[in-house]
Amino acid sequence: MRGAITAATQDLAGLMDQLDEETAGIIEFQIAMLEDDALVEPALFSIREGIAAEAAWQAALDAQVADYEAAEDEYFQARASDLKDLRDRVLRNLRGASCVQALPDGAVLAGHEITPSRFLETDWSRGGGLALRQGSPSSHVAMLARARGVPMVVGLGDADLPETGEVLLDGDDGILIVDPDDQERNAFTRRQQAASSNRQLEESYRGKPAVTGDGTAIAVMINVADPDELDDLDPADCDGIGLVRSEFLFHGPGGLPDEEQQYLAYSRILRWAGDKPVVIRTLDAGGDKPIAGLTADNESNPFLGLRGLRLSLARLEVFRVQLRALARSAPEGNLKIMLPMVTRPEELTKAKRLYEEALVALRAEGVACGEAPLGMMVEVPAAAIAPELFAEAAFFSIGSNDLTQYVTAAGRDIAAVADLNDSAHPAMLKLIRSLIEGAAAIERDVSLCGDAGGEPSEIPGLLRCGLRSLSVAPLALGRAKAAIAETDLANAHA
Ligand code: PEP
Ligand code: MG
Repeated sequence: MRGAITAATQDLAGLMDQLDEETAGIIEFQIAMLEDDALVEPALFSIREGIAAEAAWQAALDAQVADYEAAEDEYFQARASDLKDLRDRVLRNLRGASCVQALPDGAVLAGHEITPSRFLETDWSRGGGLALRQGSPSSHVAMLARARGVPMVVGLGDADLPETGEVLLDGDDGILIVDPDDQERNAFTRRQQAASSNRQLEESYRGKPAVTGDGTAIAVMINVADPDELDDLDPADCDGIGLVRSEFLFHGPGGLPDEEQQYLAYSRILRWAGDKPVVIRTLDAGGDKPIAGLTADNESNPFLGLRGLRLSLARLEVFRVQLRALARSAPEGNLKIMLPMVTRPEELTKAKRLYEEALVALRAEGVACGEAPLGMMVEVPAAAIAPELFAEAAFFSIGSNDLTQYVTAAGRDIAAVADLNDSAHPAMLKLIRSLIEGAAAIERDVSLCGDAGGEPSEIPGLLRCGLRSLSVAPLALGRAKAAIAETDLANAHA
């Protein structure tokens, strides 16, 4: 924390040298605030209480911003924006600093919670895992951890976690053994060996087409959260990319990506897939994916707030850049664009109009671009219940992670209600079945790109609802295809 504050102060001092006197005065004021113990101490106190630096700083500064905004005096109200600026600058430095933080091989990180961006910045290539007091198996971090094969245990609550020492972490069964004895160590090794031979069997399905026991072909695509993942993957193993979470571009320490950066990233993904479909989702920030300086502060319930397409339509200057980059990348492959969190048909109409405006502008500028079908995620119950209202969408993809939390009224990031957040709830299956029927009536295809699609125990139920296309984490390709092969659709009890 102190390192990030020093770095932020140095950034500001460097900035001051290039400014005129009046603007330099503003920066000077910001530096003075950063040097004021009263600003920094609440965050340091939270860190001493065990809160992660990023969360501690965010909460402390959010509280101060709220105080300044509530002040009667206009001068103090105006200072709130300086504080927000400081908050975001230090956050960027914290995130940047964490990139270079090397972890020992196989280190298990223990703490309260970790943000998706912090998870993505951590180098997991040398093993290791996560043990969290909070969190939930359906959170975005859990999803990222599963996609990368990083073992993770959540909801440890008040359990005694050592600062350092030996632990055994079993992500499959959600077990953390602190200071193990020989018996525990041997039992763990046996479980590890059994899991590894099971994985080998599942992996033998990876390169084969997915077919059920009774011969029904199922499309299995992959979800991508970071284009670097593609370097180790063979496009022949999947039927395309069913979800690119474009958030990966917006979480970096360098601030919001410009049109060129986005165009290059999207083109790289499209070229990897060749003529197979690639569904790139427009920015889905908000909820448990905050982006400093972009998402709304202090929402009482961020999952019901300004997230996904709602945020994009509120921040047109950001959305327009993304739509231009997508339109420019379309000629590089088989692009489909997908909108997250669609709730009303009008949102779809607006997004479509903005996309068409981007195309017109690019053509007028003589820039190469192409049209791509515009589809939508079905993750809000309003859309799942009444798909016929959304005929303007070219296709539907079920976001079972969010749909489950909205159907069960159990947050995907709240450990205490993790058992209620059940994507296999009969109500979910009933809803998916009726969505598929409703979509068929307007001749729209339905796929599913939530984590349920990669869960062997859930796959038979989903296929029986009528789904014939799934998009799963790359690591789940083998096990999803193995579960499909074991499903017999002709025999309901198999
Ligand atoms: C979903 O909600 O199921 C989904 C795929 O989107 P995300 O997990 O990124 O919210
Ligand atoms: Mg979602």
